[in-house]
Amino acid sequence: MQVYNTLSRRKERLNTLEPNKVKMYVCGPTTYNYIHLGNARPLVVFDIIRRYLQYKGYEVTYVQNFTDVDDKIIQRSQEEGKSAAEVAGKYIDEYFRDADALGVKRADYHPRVSDHIPDIIRVIETLVEKGYAYRIGGDVYYRVRAFERYGQLSGRSLEEMLAGARVEVDERKENPMDFALWKEAKPGEPAWESPWGLGRPGWHIECSVMAMKYLGETLDIHGGGADLVFPHHENEIAQSEAYSGRPFVRYWLHNGFITVNKEKMSKSLGNFFILREILSQYPAEVVRFYLGSTHYRSPLDFDNTKLEEAGRALARLNNTLRRLNEVVKNQEVEANDGTRDTDEGFVSRLRELKEKFEVAMDDDFNTAQAIGYLFDMAREINAYLDFWEGEGSSKAPAAIKEAYRVFTLLGGNILGFLSEDFEHKGHGISDKVIEILFEMKEEALESGSLERVERILSCLQSAGIEIEDTFSGSTWRANRPVNVSDLIEPLLSWRSEARRNKDFTTADVIRDNLKKIGVVVEDTKEGARWRIEATGKI
Ligand SMILES: [Zn+2]
Repeated sequence: MQVYNTLSRRKERLNTLEPNKVKMYVCGPTTYNYIHLGNARPLVVFDIIRRYLQYKGYEVTYVQNFTDVDDKIIQRSQEEGKSAAEVAGKYIDEYFRDADALGVKRADYHPRVSDHIPDIIRVIETLVEKGYAYRIGGDVYYRVRAFERYGQLSGRSLEEMLAGARVEVDERKENPMDFALWKEAKPGEPAWESPWGLGRPGWHIECSVMAMKYLGETLDIHGGGADLVFPHHENEIAQSEAYSGRPFVRYWLHNGFITVNKEKMSKSLGNFFILREILSQYPAEVVRFYLGSTHYRSPLDFDNTKLEEAGRALARLNNTLRRLNEVVKNQEVEANDGTRDTDEGFVSRLRELKEKFEVAMDDDFNTAQAIGYLFDMAREINAYLDFWEGEGSSKAPAAIKEAYRVFTLLGGNILGFLSEDFEHKGHGISDKVIEILFEMKEEALESGSLERVERILSCLQSAGIEIEDTFSGSTWRANRPVNVSDLIEPLLSWRSEARRNKDFTTADVIRDNLKKIGVVVEDTKEGARWRIEATGKI
């Protein structure tokens, strides 16, 4: 197995410190707000990496921290009139809601800075004793000149950094690149007692301390977004190696940036996406598929059409899964697990594709290629199911059970988007559109307009919604992740048809109903356009 190591700038054979064990640390979010799309990418990327390592037989210990002591949290707490701990606690809960929705498994440890202040103080004390840090008043700084390898990860010399950096010039610092390990408390801020007076830790030191505490002085894998290489990870190396005298990390893995229409995502550009808002419009498994289907080191350019595409692609895989499911759950499977002659070719093609999938994943977790093989597999399975259904045999051959096992292993257990845990329900806007369609259906029934009822049913059907009529009324279930556009588009073409026929009542009913749930329809020269009104507070 090969992984690309940012430190050596090349792919290296994965050779862990202890055989069959991987100690892995990934930088977690600063908990002052809902997470944004840029936070969600490493979440999914490293979840897939962890799952794949486990599949390969490694015992993985996974640590992801929460930065719950930070300027932004203090600022937010002052705005909201709450304590910093309350703000951090709230957004940690919200973080888990998002991570769970995306099918991200919990880490073995989720340490928080506020629980590790004494550990952090001890490490800083050692750094001061060893001459790697110095005190100025109530602050403690790291002395970058004392650490020879500073700049190794980002590939820049101290001189180059100085030339390019816009560092705050603090006359008291020995070198402008020296960074804070401990900061003196300002009035009203959360603060802890230390040998240097009341204060709080700087950002970088927490990761060094918590990583070493839970994983030992040398980790196998340290992950994070590429934006963390400098200064955060560069500083982590300097602190940890100066402290322990040992190599800190064997393999540094960094995921690429997310851009929006080729521009960097940022609040000032107004293209900043809160994950929760995206999850209110798109099924979580589609978002996971989208984030996981590009190679993790490549940049990922976001726009809504990409999510639409991801939704359609995933629907194809889900369709195969549904067909397999129906057979495996409803049909008696032949006990014989030896395969019939006619099935041998099919089973060996499955095996071949599974091997190719693994070769791709073994090559620095190339999910893009691996998913390509999953689509090939879906095609093989569909063709086989067509053939078997044509045969009209009552029992399902063992080959179908094998196909089900392999398909859910790769797409479900490893990549995590083909899973029955995703209920295809509870996706904000699409649920609301479905409710609206149900209301319209009831009204149409009452007024005896069967044509209208038909029309509504076909809108639902085209989004994969099945209606079950029971004594207590109608309920629905989705046979694949529901794309909100698959619901709205047919509604809008119905509306334009009505407008052409001068049936403005129907056209207005559709527009007004959508408006009630925050979907705004605008008529332009090119036809009707729709958008979802932003409601979330960023
Ligand atoms: Zn970190």
